Amino acid sequence: MRYNLRSKLSLSYILIILISVGLISLLSNVFLEKQFQNYMITQQERKTNEMIDLISQQYATDGSWKIQHLETIGMHALENGLIIKVLNKNNDTVWDATEHNNGLCQQMIYNISENMFSYYDNWNGEYVEKEFPIRLGNETIGILKTGYLGPFYFNDDDLTFINTLNRVFIIIGLLSLIFAFILGTIMSKRISKPISNVIDKAHQLSEGKYGDVILTSSNTKEINSLIESINSLADTLKKQEELRKRLTQDVAHELRTPLTSVQGHMEAMIDGIWEADEERLQSCYDEILRIKRLIGSIENLTRIESENLKLNKEKFDVSRLIQSIINNFEKDLETKSVKIHFENMRNDITADKDKLSQVFINLISNALKYTEPGGDIYISVTNKDNIIKLVIQDNGIGISDEDLPYIFERFYRTDKSRNKETGGIGIGLTIVKTIMNAHNGTITVESKKNEGTKFTIQLPLG
Ligand code: ADP
Repeated sequence: MRYNLRSKLSLSYILIILISVGLISLLSNVFLEKQFQNYMITQQERKTNEMIDLISQQYATDGSWKIQHLETIGMHALENGLIIKVLNKNNDTVWDATEHNNGLCQQMIYNISENMFSYYDNWNGEYVEKEFPIRLGNETIGILKTGYLGPFYFNDDDLTFINTLNRVFIIIGLLSLIFAFILGTIMSKRISKPISNVIDKAHQLSEGKYGDVILTSSNTKEINSLIESINSLADTLKKQEELRKRLTQDVAHELRTPLTSVQGHMEAMIDGIWEADEERLQSCYDEILRIKRLIGSIENLTRIESENLKLNKEKFDVSRLIQSIINNFEKDLETKSVKIHFENMRNDITADKDKLSQVFINLISNALKYTEPGGDIYISVTNKDNIIKLVIQDNGIGISDEDLPYIFERFYRTDKSRNKETGGIGIGLTIVKTIMNAHNGTITVESKKNEGTKFTIQLPLG
């Protein structure tokens, strides 16, 4: 059986309080009960000693036994649950409560046993008799015999006191339960509400609804980071979805344009409108090559993006590699009259040389592609704290703020018209980023429209 979080939390709170209240009641009851019994026994002794003092005082004051005074003391003792008998030093009875009023004594014994039975279901106390000498100075002037229901007993006041105490415990227990219930409900609501929101959002995500983010936040750290994670997951999925749609559109567009052109050419040649001369066949062939290049790029990207991007690491001088790539671009640079400024200083690194070549080729060719004739490209390599920092900066057309966050995404091109002249299909930087990630490196970009672009790469040495 599955319970929801809210009822589970509420139940846990109630259970904890039940156990705590139960344990506290049990312990305090046992402890208090024991203490109370001890207290009653000492009270008993104190009363008896008081009685002996009173009786000896009476004898000292009156010079002999005075029945009237003994009767007052005896009746007072009876009210407190004690049946007394006073004997003189010859062992003759001077005053005896049972002789004075046996009915009252029996009544008192009955009342006390009733009290005890009302409190202890199986009380098994019995009538206890004790003897105490009555002394005046060093002389024994008589004997006091006491009788009571032992080992201890509760008179009416004692019973009221202990019952009130128990009632207070029950009330505290009940109040704690109610408090726990209210607190449990509030707390579980506070904890479960944001989690329910996250669950709802996760359901929406599974149905492909990436829309709004979860607005509620929680002051519980873990729940808050769960909300943040789900929000960022939703955001990522939303972006991925948009990119996926754009990717399909882009690929369809990229394929349709050359195919339509080839189809038109072919139709015209089949219908005999055009002659199948070399120039037209060459044009069809070029378009087919474009399609092939596109498919090749997609395959290349898929291969590079596949999870196990295997690196064949070797130690090499990264500056030398960059210099050789610059040399390969020499002709293009000359044609476009773009100048590359690079100070070749040895910087060894252990990395996948071929893949890093691809990174530099992509970045340098982009810089060249997006820089106006007469422009400059600055490349620098530095080594600080075992991190190679590589900067490729141009003073070309730059990238607008709205495009900047997306340029590393697949098939993203700032030139939406997909100008054939600028060539690329928007995967060059995606490949760069993937290779960087595989090397535990980073790539960042800063750019200003019409001012230029700066790519910064940070690579660990090994
Ligand atoms: P492409 O093959 O279209 O060049 P990339 O992934 O290499 O694709 O680059 C993505 C987009 O980023 C490019 O379409 C271009 O608009 C922009 N971009 C990349 N590098 C530069 C640069 N140095 N200057 C200006 N824009 C750039």
